[in-house]
Amino acid sequence: MKPTFIHRLINGPFEDPCLFVRIIREKRAFLFDIGSIERLKSGDLQKITDVFVTHTHIDHFIGFDTLLRALLRRERPLRIYGPSNITECIEGKLRGYTWNLIREYPLKIEVLSVKEDKMVTSSFYAENCFEKKQGNIFNFDGVILKEPFFRVNVAQLDHQIPCLAFSLEEDFHININKAVLIDRGLPVGPWLAELKKAIREQKSGDTEFVINGGRYSLNELKDIVKITKGQKISYVTDVSLTEENIRKVIELVHSSDTLYCEAYFLEKDRDRALERFHLTAKTAGMIAREARVGNFVAMHFSPKYRSKSETPEDEAIREFKMVKKCALIPEQH
Ligand SMILES: [Zn+2]
Ligand SMILES: [Zn+2]
Repeated sequence: MKPTFIHRLINGPFEDPCLFVRIIREKRAFLFDIGSIERLKSGDLQKITDVFVTHTHIDHFIGFDTLLRALLRRERPLRIYGPSNITECIEGKLRGYTWNLIREYPLKIEVLSVKEDKMVTSSFYAENCFEKKQGNIFNFDGVILKEPFFRVNVAQLDHQIPCLAFSLEEDFHININKAVLIDRGLPVGPWLAELKKAIREQKSGDTEFVINGGRYSLNELKDIVKITKGQKISYVTDVSLTEENIRKVIELVHSSDTLYCEAYFLEKDRDRALERFHLTAKTAGMIAREARVGNFVAMHFSPKYRSKSETPEDEAIREFKMVKKCALIPEQH
């Protein structure tokens, strides 16, 4: 199965957390948090259309300037999503420079902030020297971005300040059954991408395709594809150790193919985790296990464990893989 989303962390686990997700067929990419992004090549920076910011602590937001500089001459707008103060943080960053020579630059930044059940938009255009333009207020139902084949869901969490967690979810995945294709004597070609697009957009069954001069309706081609569960990638970081947060995270990330989750402190430093509004590695592992995720990546470790023999990763993965003891006790008759 060809995945729709190709994802990777940009930095090591002791450095700024930052997830880069490519959508190959759309030649675009998403960024989850924008800490240091110096390792991204300029070609990758140019693909970024949407940035999802959990909160604006410096390790999650300092890369904004790097991205801004790279995209100043780009036509495609940049959208940034974040908690309630994201707009003023972006405005503050933009106000830190002088912009009298950029009126002919095409860049448009659209900002979307979330607070409880409301979503507020605003924009900053290079042609107006990045003056803020207030947009609209919308009702917010937990989905921050919805496109024809995927959506991004949000959980609003507490990190002493509001902090968002995100889940990128493909509606369903379309696979081509090569055996049926060969059986029917149909060639591989660009028409397969069009067929997938038509299915995603729920086009009518009589939509026509021309393949090698022959005409086929969408209904006639449906046996070539197999629909399976869509890909789900979740990103959670900087979360206070509260029952409410843990419940909301498990609900958001449930059944993810991959969960990226902070594991800032070891369980033995739980008091410190409570003081600093972070998860422990053990709790992160428990969340991943309870949420039945396929693959769990622990990230964002406190630098104090850099040279220690046991890392937060060891503790988090051990907890994730732990089989509950009660399941091992044979049933009594
Ligand atoms: Zn952080
Ligand atoms: Zn933080």
